[in-house]
Amino acid sequence: MDETKMDIPKTADIVIIGGGVMGASAAYHLARRGIENIVMLEKEEFFGTGATGRCAGGVRYQFSTEINIKLSLESLPMLECFKEEIGQDVNYRQCGYLLIATDEKDATTFKRNVDLQNNLGVQTQLLSGEDVRARLPLMNFEDAIAGTFHQKDGIVDPNSVVAGYVRAAQKLGAKAITRAEAIGIRVSGGQVEAVETAQGEIQTGMVLNAAGPWAGLIGQMAGVQIPILPIRRQMFTTNALAEIPEDFPFVIDFGQSLYFHREGDGLLIGMSNQAEKPGFDQTVDEEFELKNFEAAIERMPLLDRAGRASHWAGLYEVTPDAHPIFGGSSVKGFTICAGFSGHGFMHGPVAGKLMSEYILDGTFSTLDVSMLDLARFEEGRLIKEYNVV
Ligand SMILES: Cc1cc2nc3c(=O)[nH]c(=O)nc-3n(C[C@H](O)[C@H](O)[C@H](O)COP(=O)(O)OP(=O)(O)OC[C@H]3O[C@@H](n4cnc5c(N)ncnc54)[C@H](O)[C@@H]3O)c2cc1C
Repeated sequence: MDETKMDIPKTADIVIIGGGVMGASAAYHLARRGIENIVMLEKEEFFGTGATGRCAGGVRYQFSTEINIKLSLESLPMLECFKEEIGQDVNYRQCGYLLIATDEKDATTFKRNVDLQNNLGVQTQLLSGEDVRARLPLMNFEDAIAGTFHQKDGIVDPNSVVAGYVRAAQKLGAKAITRAEAIGIRVSGGQVEAVETAQGEIQTGMVLNAAGPWAGLIGQMAGVQIPILPIRRQMFTTNALAEIPEDFPFVIDFGQSLYFHREGDGLLIGMSNQAEKPGFDQTVDEEFELKNFEAAIERMPLLDRAGRASHWAGLYEVTPDAHPIFGGSSVKGFTICAGFSGHGFMHGPVAGKLMSEYILDGTFSTLDVSMLDLARFEEGRLIKEYNVV
């Protein structure tokens, strides 16, 4: 995306810190509600180069908690009609997600999840091990016990979503500035007064922390403890593989957190390293990549002949219960929309809308996410998500 060079304004009605999907969506939704003096700060040269631009682009309704399913029920239709509303094609491919269980515990949980999803109107199908094998003739899943499939899950281009929201917000008057790092937040009498950048201070009474994996650091600037840990995750793509059908689904070998989806004429393949320690390193761990490749070949032998086309790493923004944080904090004017724990790209559209409601009306009207407040960690109201990949 084009860099946006701009002087740092002296004042703002609201300063959004972070130009990923959350910041961009919030900027657009606030601007659409008529707020004129919005400033969005992004420390990097381009918007969307944090977690959003490094993510797998997967969008799904298949979650294990009611609130995550409801977030998808609001957010994914916004992606479906993104072009009409925002004027940007985001290449939504409804290839379906096929989750595969290879142990009894996961199989039992899958059944419970499908019941919950069906009750909320999501038509996920429960599959037997035999069904899984029949759907994936190119793969080895002799050990599959069960699977779940939902056709409307799929893949969307993350950069197009960010670019679309940034441009739409700018058209409505928001200022979106790259190479503008927030380095401090001035708080006085328990109220936000200004955001400091290397290029100058912006006086404001309202800050939205949309800094993804870096959100904990932004919290520290305001004196607010936010339990979000950055955890590295990585993936690679293969060169063209003629055997992979056009309609190949987003396949998840749940037990290994190993996933495959079509990317161009090849595959995108990733696996979560469960031993990864928190940290901000975004270089690829080549040793783990080899393990990932080997695990992928076990599941899909034709990959033996595949070459790597590209690879990269990014950071999950992990909370103790794998759910995001929406809302305010102990500091007046310091709000948070972060901590989506590795599945937030898909919830970006509705998350920005919800934060615009919270900031302007003091309440979430599209969907009640008030239980996902920061205080839940101290008060022991955690809501655990099982479907984390
Ligand atoms: C490898 C990987 C795969 C993933 N796959 C999926 C997937 O398939 N589906 C899905 O839904 N989600 C996925 N995710 C998760 C998803 O990427 C995130 O949940 C989502 O993008 C978070 O968006 P964000 O805007 O909160 O964070 P980010 O996109 O990280 O945006 C935060 C921005 O804040 C900026 N920033 C930080 N500090 C400052 C500062 N001091 N001043 C100014 N700017 C600052 C950063 O540079 C960054 O651009 C994946 C993540 C990774 C890493």
